[in-house]
Amino acid sequence: MARVRGSFKLHIDMKRDALRQKRAAGPARTGTISTHSPEETFTLGKRLGAIIPFGTTLSIEGGLGAGKTALVKGIAAGLGIEAEILSPTFILVEEYRGGDAPLLHYDLYRLEELGEVERIGMFDAVDGRNIVVVEWGDRLPEGTMEFDVTISIRITGRDERDVEISAPPAIMDALEGWEEGA
Ligand code: ADP
Ligand code: MG
Repeated sequence: MARVRGSFKLHIDMKRDALRQKRAAGPARTGTISTHSPEETFTLGKRLGAIIPFGTTLSIEGGLGAGKTALVKGIAAGLGIEAEILSPTFILVEEYRGGDAPLLHYDLYRLEELGEVERIGMFDAVDGRNIVVVEWGDRLPEGTMEFDVTISIRITGRDERDVEISAPPAIMDALEGWEEGA
């Protein structure tokens, strides 16, 4: 078992490096993946977490109950973080270590002024290594922060969600590959 896990890990790290090198290659591409349960959204997040290069910044958008936090839980799992992911609604940020890279999870639902995110160091958190995930990233004034990946979740039924992902081609390619292999 340990050997399998080890080689799996090596494979993922090589994939991350390759993606990092290709990161700036080409404009973002957009695609929509429909999920039919919270678990499916989690699994999608997990795939994403396993392939995003270190330093990736993600904005996750969609109304209350869309499934933003469900997706972030998956991203954390994909990074190998075992801690329980909370909704940082009241304190704006939660930080998780112990995964492949530190995960900084922001929730701007209660953001009242830009000074708040400066004070909690959100912009400094973008350091080329941290994975920075921002729920309600669309609450930031236009041009404040450029995200590598923008995800917009739309509620289309009780358990159905349309997850629209805009990401560099390398990430979109990797996602497709993982979908086929699932
Ligand atoms: P947000 O962070 O966007 O406010 P949460 O992830 O906290 O949303 O909650 C999403 C809610 O929607 C949960 O109660 C979850 O069980 C439910 N849900 C139903 N279907 C889905 C789905 N396909 N994907 C994600 N969440 C879903
Ligand atoms: Mg949330």
